[in-house]
Amino acid sequence: MISSDGGRRQPAAAAISDRYERARNRMVETLVDRGIRDEKVLDVMRRIPRHEFVPEPFTDKSYGDHALAIGAEQTISQPYMVAIMTSLCELTPESRVLEIGAGSGYQTAVAAALSKYVYGIERIAELAREAMNRLRKLKITNATIKCFDGTIGWSEHAPYDAILVAAGGPSVPEPLVKQLAVGGRLVVPVGTEKSQTLVRVTRTGSGIVEEEFGGCIFVKLIGRYGFDK
Ligand code: SAH
Repeated sequence: MISSDGGRRQPAAAAISDRYERARNRMVETLVDRGIRDEKVLDVMRRIPRHEFVPEPFTDKSYGDHALAIGAEQTISQPYMVAIMTSLCELTPESRVLEIGAGSGYQTAVAAALSKYVYGIERIAELAREAMNRLRKLKITNATIKCFDGTIGWSEHAPYDAILVAAGGPSVPEPLVKQLAVGGRLVVPVGTEKSQTLVRVTRTGSGIVEEEFGGCIFVKLIGRYGFDK
């Protein structure tokens, strides 16, 4: 487990010192320059070896502030979006998190370092398998990734304190709102196939509150409560 809580847990990656350490620090400086102020998130991103989540030919590009191809026509999200979305989820060591669109598993690893457990879903089997292998290699034991359509949620483990959707859909998937705990936050890009708005839905005791956090571009959320294909 990669810990960010001042050493209460045994941080597997705390002492990571590899040839990408400087690149990782520069990546975090860029995030700060772009306005990210969430120290907990910045701290975790300073430690998680993003290059382990990127296919071989692109490892040297893994710390640039951009998305990169991970195969199956999908991408690992841009560090800036990972930072914003994680920050909007307001994770704590008690949080139980659902992630839809686990892709490379990088966002899963970042969320896992800040929460109790992450249930990840990825619709492409090959990506789900590779992502799970990366988590195992990094000894991240408080996250799992399964392969199915995440737009229906994962009712077995509901309700969730946070739900993070890393693919853009035509609307907020209704089953996900239902699987939020009271006080829980759902962060999801909503819009067309070409551009979306980052939306946060918070479940309150009496209903839901919806907030918008600007434009973004994600790959398509495909499924029963997403795009058809
Ligand atoms: N957070 C990931 C982002 C991967 S891109 C990363 O940084 O690596 C988004 C992923 O969402 C893709 O891998 C895509 O296959 C997946 N996806 C799209 N629709 C989905 C659905 N309905 N359920 C689960 N995964 C989905």
